[in-house]
Amino acid sequence: MANRIILHIDMNSYFASVEQQANPHLRGRPVGVCEHLGGIIIAPSVEAKRLGIKLGTPVWEAVKIFPQIALLHADPDKYRHVTKQFMTILEDYSDDVEQYSIDEAFLDITKYCVGDYNEALLLGLEIKQRLRLSVGEWVSCSIGIGPNKLIAKIAADLDGGAPSFLQREGKGEFLDRICVITPERIPLLYDKLKLTDVPGIGSRLERALNKLGIVSLRELAIYPLSNLLNQFGMWGYVLHSWANFNTTTSPFSPPHEEGMGEVLVPKSFGHAYTVPKVLTRLGDIKKLMFKLSEKVGRRMRKYGARGSVIHYFHSGPSFSLAPGGRGEGEGGYFSKQRKIREFINDGKDIFKVAWGIYCSDLFPSPSPGLGRVAEGRERSNESIKIMGVSVSGLKFSASGGDQDFLFEQYKRPRWLMEVMDQINNKYGEYTITRAGMYNAPQEWAKDTVGFGRMRII
Ligand SMILES: [Mg+2]
Repeated sequence: MANRIILHIDMNSYFASVEQQANPHLRGRPVGVCEHLGGIIIAPSVEAKRLGIKLGTPVWEAVKIFPQIALLHADPDKYRHVTKQFMTILEDYSDDVEQYSIDEAFLDITKYCVGDYNEALLLGLEIKQRLRLSVGEWVSCSIGIGPNKLIAKIAADLDGGAPSFLQREGKGEFLDRICVITPERIPLLYDKLKLTDVPGIGSRLERALNKLGIVSLRELAIYPLSNLLNQFGMWGYVLHSWANFNTTTSPFSPPHEEGMGEVLVPKSFGHAYTVPKVLTRLGDIKKLMFKLSEKVGRRMRKYGARGSVIHYFHSGPSFSLAPGGRGEGEGGYFSKQRKIREFINDGKDIFKVAWGIYCSDLFPSPSPGLGRVAEGRERSNESIKIMGVSVSGLKFSASGGDQDFLFEQYKRPRWLMEVMDQINNKYGEYTITRAGMYNAPQEWAKDTVGFGRMRII
């Protein structure tokens, strides 16, 4: 990473501020945005937060705390509109803008400020000013600047107690912050940050770390990586990187804990997809299965995981029985897993096993050759609306290493997968794919919105 400068911008109390901007009567009052009155507060205003009303507080409890609270239904179109406005401003400063959630973005501003942190600070102030003018005075943001995404995000989150070495401009608690962390100052962060100040480390993970005798971020940074890997699987690697303030390729939070900001070791990797139009042709079924398998494999490799239990399921438009049984009418529900002796993470291998499971159901005997099945049969007896492929029985290694390639049939040139992954990382999913995915419709099994952060709605 050659001296990049990254700016992270995070809108403060976003939905509530946007509502207050739109309606002056709400300004200065505790406001709670919710999906419905029987639910939770999904966005408290700053004033509500001061009273102890948090994201996730049940509406009834918020009313108990402050009966005059202004409760509003979420208005996604309004928030999206404002997001578009501020993203347009950000695009003036970098070609490399990543919208991270509906109210957060990362910008690579290295070029714009010629690698100079003072310039970066001025740029941050300018962005704030432009936001005030175009979005409105009531919608404020926190800005963090640092040499990578993780540090920029930490900088934006640093609270009012930030020590003087951090250049900052504050106007009131948690509002309108800007904080710069230059590379020389990174070591000072160890004195400032608790374990849970690192995005992704929640209280549950903190407890698990405490049990290992790790109570500070500094201790985590020097804890032997191999011990972390033993304890947390591939997340040990991620934790090690975080504690050393390196951005990993991993997201800040893992797939299974949406919105929780916690790290857990995944038990399986899977993808499921609901097709817009029911699939009946074997060729289409095969293509979708291949695409799902490729997705699963790609994610496994990203996390250095291999697995030996492949699970396949599908259901038709009108299934009604419990898993394992056949539904009424066309379609049905089918779900089966197979344990193999090898640990795999190549999409093609995963597909082979999934296809085998599917075929054994379709043509129970004699055991079909994989190739022969598709030929000569235009229609399957199935009509498939939802399909899923997952892999469990996982093993992790930080390097995603080769040591388990014991069987030649599963051995595939690693460089080929790596090159494909690199190209897809750079140019977008499925820029390059194997022939089996050739002409699978674009919209099949597209990536959904990320996790562990405010969802893009
Ligand atoms: Mg925010």
